[in-house]
Amino acid sequence: MESQRRSIGDDSCISPELDRLIRQRGRDLRLRKLDQQNAVKIVNHLIDSLLEFLKNNEDQPFFREVSVLTSGSYYEMVKINKPNEFDIMLKLKVPRLTFSELEEYRGLFYKIKLSKPTRTEIQHFLLEDFLTVSATKIKAEMHRLVRKFINNHFQGEGWVIRRNLVNSPAVTLEFKSKEKDDDVMSVDIVPTLEVLQGWPQAARAGPDIDRWLGKKCRRQLVSKAVYFVPKRPKGRNLKDDAKESWRISFSHIEKEMMQYHGNKKTCCEGHSNKCCRKLCLRLLKCLIEGLKQQYPKELEPLCSYHGKTAFFHVLSDRVQDSLWSPGQLSVSFMKLFGYFERCALNGSLPHFFVLEHNLFSPPAFPKRALAFLTTVLREQRELGLPLLKVPSPTSALVPDTNGVIPPINGTDSIVAFDRSFKHVYVCLLAVIVCIGIACVFKK
Ligand SMILES: [Zn+2]
Repeated sequence: MESQRRSIGDDSCISPELDRLIRQRGRDLRLRKLDQQNAVKIVNHLIDSLLEFLKNNEDQPFFREVSVLTSGSYYEMVKINKPNEFDIMLKLKVPRLTFSELEEYRGLFYKIKLSKPTRTEIQHFLLEDFLTVSATKIKAEMHRLVRKFINNHFQGEGWVIRRNLVNSPAVTLEFKSKEKDDDVMSVDIVPTLEVLQGWPQAARAGPDIDRWLGKKCRRQLVSKAVYFVPKRPKGRNLKDDAKESWRISFSHIEKEMMQYHGNKKTCCEGHSNKCCRKLCLRLLKCLIEGLKQQYPKELEPLCSYHGKTAFFHVLSDRVQDSLWSPGQLSVSFMKLFGYFERCALNGSLPHFFVLEHNLFSPPAFPKRALAFLTTVLREQRELGLPLLKVPSPTSALVPDTNGVIPPINGTDSIVAFDRSFKHVYVCLLAVIVCIGIACVFKK
């Protein structure tokens, strides 16, 4: 069997069908990006109004001076199959802070303290030592204020607040359009702290981008501030420190690396030097979402950040722009897919910035889930990535799946049904003609 000869990362056996499938899906994804503009308008209006509300709010002065982190283009696409999901980080204005690592979590979770006692408004969000900043208090207040904002200003306009999840740093708002039932959109609002102390020890070794983006770029990135979001580690019986911990976020750096992603500065500047890097990531995210939709329980720990991390590792290794030319889409994507599969198989996916933190290690990623992931990734590769076979939204034959991926070969069966219908129709016509001729001869 041809499929059995294919091995991980071996792109020499990309079959013509697989090549066509990857390209087709790539085209669909490019089209969807255009659909997003209307959603962006609605979200912009919401966020501008929220900022205005917070600025003038009477009951919590600490939240008056917030700003949107990574201003300019606010948003990075989080999900692919549901393009209308937005992440917005709101930076709180704080006095000087310091952080210290919670050792058992290998460089991802931190305790955040004031450098010195203060009488500024943050004092209402501290623990008993009057120095440690409480993640739960800040998250709870963000939630309360957003709820008040929606009740006062967006009542009956389609926005609702989703239940507060203990492991999520975000307040999630959902929007349902009155006109179109399937027009759902969601916005994650995440309170964020900026710490100017320099990068933590655990992140000093990463990111490995010298060969890809250059040493100068690396120096620039590492000199930027780091941010923390109120997120606790997964697992039961957390210590008090862990319950109040903050997770380090590099999303502003990631965004910059995505934007200036070329080995040469000119990559993607004009039509002649386009590359397929971003499209490869979107295809991988698409696959991850498809897997999660199919196996929500088994793959609960899997998220798009795993795909993004693998993507950055491959970029830092496969540095030349020419390797990512649009004509190399299938080869490049299969390299990325192969790398991701190998990570799952080896149980090792180092965080791109905090290298000693393995994102595929328990308890965040239990062994059972990882074994399951390995199996389904192998299955996808051997069957020629059936999960990418989502019908294109413009095809008239395709039922409205509402973003749900249909079973494998869903479109094929519809086409087959259409064909058999035509067959019956032709037969019926022939019978009628025969009867007609017979009648004529009888007369
Ligand atoms: Zn490019």
